[in-house]
Amino acid sequence: MAQDDIKLKKAYSPQSRFKNQNVEPEFWRHKKLEEMNKTEWELLCDGCGKCCLNKLEYKGKIYFTNAHCRFLNPKNCLCRIYQNRFEVVKDCRDIDLKAIREKPRWLPKTCAYLLIDEGNDLPPWHPLITGKASSVFDAGVSLKNRPVISESEVKDYEDHIVDWQDL
Ligand code: SF4
Ligand code: SF4
Repeated sequence: MAQDDIKLKKAYSPQSRFKNQNVEPEFWRHKKLEEMNKTEWELLCDGCGKCCLNKLEYKGKIYFTNAHCRFLNPKNCLCRIYQNRFEVVKDCRDIDLKAIREKPRWLPKTCAYLLIDEGNDLPPWHPLITGKASSVFDAGVSLKNRPVISESEVKDYEDHIVDWQDL
């Protein structure tokens, strides 16, 4: 048998990397958000960074802009001050059940918390499915390589409204 055949028979299971953590296999398929433990909750975030875009609210509708919070690193979509973000940025929102169910909706439609709360499965590019954090970048659904700017450079937010399909 060729070496490649042997490799193919040992199919990689992304979920195997969680076996020593407090995480049930494919928890997002059988648990509601309310039932997830802290580790599962954190793993559900795909790391897209789109919740850190500034938005405008007008007549009950949310308009996303391409201006991100000044503390977001758009190269890796990570918050530079994650541990103390709520002390530093007064309008930084915790992603909890209230935030997820708030109307008008201010999270992007690809947000894993929204998808699961609405009874959907995760998309094929989600890191929990692929086993790779970078798959959210490769799929083009994060802020990485998008025409975004820091809020610190914005003069008028209305000039920065975007209607990207995945918002
Ligand atoms: S939009 Fe949702 S999935 Fe994306 S980074 Fe924010 S909380 Fe995580
Ligand atoms: S402070 Fe909040 S809004 Fe700003 S980058 Fe961090 S998590 Fe995002």
